[in-house]
Amino acid sequence: MNADHRRIGRRILLRTGAAGLLGAAGVAATASAASAAAVEPDIDSTTVWGARRPNGTNPVITGRPNKLIVHHTVAPNTADFSREQAHRHARWVQNLHMDDNGWRDSGYNFIVSRGGWITEGATGSLPALHHGGRFVQGIHTAGQNTQSIGIANEGAYHDGAVPTAAQWETLVTLCAFACEQYGIPSTQIYGHKDFGSTLCPGIFHDRLPRLRREVEAARGR
Ligand SMILES: [Zn+2]
Repeated sequence: MNADHRRIGRRILLRTGAAGLLGAAGVAATASAASAAAVEPDIDSTTVWGARRPNGTNPVITGRPNKLIVHHTVAPNTADFSREQAHRHARWVQNLHMDDNGWRDSGYNFIVSRGGWITEGATGSLPALHHGGRFVQGIHTAGQNTQSIGIANEGAYHDGAVPTAAQWETLVTLCAFACEQYGIPSTQIYGHKDFGSTLCPGIFHDRLPRLRREVEAARGR
């Protein structure tokens, strides 16, 4: 892992700001005061949120993904911004993917909740991210799973809804950290619909230019 990265208490930042209303200035000020490198966000591992064991072994790819792909989970757009809700949602996604889709595990590598909490998706994705030289092959974008990381956002954004400020800022922070860890240019952040016929990730796709700009800024570039 890059020694320049400085871990901050993401949940402390969130508690300090009004719930769900943390302004961009909060993160930017903290990051610039620390260093020019990307801030490492708190990510709750599968152990922390009580994931089921994968049905089989998740493939670990040696090497680095060349892009990030953003998704939405089409879960209800809850007003529950708690960490507990993020964990419930992570379990809901895993059950859906394993029981309904018949997949071995959660298909995404990471999920950002509407309250701004991050959960590890496919088991092993978090230690791989910390390592920086390998990643877990997810099941999220046909043709891209062996060369990308899938980051999903809790909620449905194809029908006019917008993410919360906390969710957006956490997505920016997570993307910046992942790009730094894997040496991915900020321009290489895409949406699911760039690679297939889907409405996913809704308005996040419209906002990709903004996401790339904000990720680049969060990396101190
Ligand atoms: Zn998707």
